[in-house]
Amino acid sequence: MTIAISGATGQLGRAALAALAPRSGVIALARDPSRAPQGVEARAFDYAAPDASALKGVDTFVLISSNSFEDRAGDHLRAIEAATTAGVGRIIYTSILKGTDSPLKIAGDHKITERAIRASGLPFTILRNGWYVENFTGSLQGAIAHGAMAGAAGEARFSSAARQDFAEAIAATVGEGHAGQVYELAGDTAHTMGDVAAEVSRITGKTIPYHTLPEADYAAMLAGFGLPPAFAAFLADADVQARSGGLYDDSHTLSRLIGRPTTPMATVVQAALAA
Ligand code: NDP
Repeated sequence: MTIAISGATGQLGRAALAALAPRSGVIALARDPSRAPQGVEARAFDYAAPDASALKGVDTFVLISSNSFEDRAGDHLRAIEAATTAGVGRIIYTSILKGTDSPLKIAGDHKITERAIRASGLPFTILRNGWYVENFTGSLQGAIAHGAMAGAAGEARFSSAARQDFAEAIAATVGEGHAGQVYELAGDTAHTMGDVAAEVSRITGKTIPYHTLPEADYAAMLAGFGLPPAFAAFLADADVQARSGGLYDDSHTLSRLIGRPTTPMATVVQAALAA
């Protein structure tokens, strides 16, 4: 069986390739193949102009969603068209928790992509990924320096899991038995942002509270840190939508797929602060 993974230079793609490492027939797809992980065949595949021949003979094409905020849906539609032209056996797509029913604005591209995959007629598996815990850990040092964390999440409950858990879900679904499946993937134990702040406080021995800001203020704060304004607005919206359950799931589908409990938020926070 031949498996090709796009986004192979990214964090999720690299982790998925590592999780698949014992298998043969794995191909890394990257816009710059020289940056792909060593030890696997690498082929050029740019979402801006994907070459269908890169998918020749591929049984399972793992389409990792693009991180572009200019034309992400277009990136995905072009990749699906290439997959259709090449006649891949199945597409696995990394979508967002709740997919076509997600209330998050950032889900818009995923909705377009999920619908296009169904319309393509190709066999598919949709991995609807919840929030990575790592989304919360990137800014922890700054929060510690300022003595507080901030967001717009209030008491929202996030069923987050480690990026590694989602990577292992890719590895778990590349084989037979997953065609036509849509998996809602999330952490086993939900947490609030207050829980994250409490864990940071426990580790550092400092009191680091979590402050909930109005959505517009939080978006402005993120833009002030240098995030593109459109992305900052998406993140602030995600916090607000999480308050009504947009990033919560208690199906335990992810732990069932990977055959172990998902990584607790505290474990990822501890690792981030120890690094
Ligand atoms: P990364 O930002 O680490 O990786 C993104 C990958 O997309 C990179 O390999 C990048 O390639 C590739 N890419 C971007 N544009 C193109 C293009 N035109 N052609 C080919 N490849 C391209 O993200 P992660 O690996 O951590 O996450 C994977 C995806 O999951 C993200 O792209 C995003 O859509 C989504 N995501 C989900 C989160 C969640 O909490 N569920 C959080 C963050 C992201 P290159 O190295 O060449 O730039």
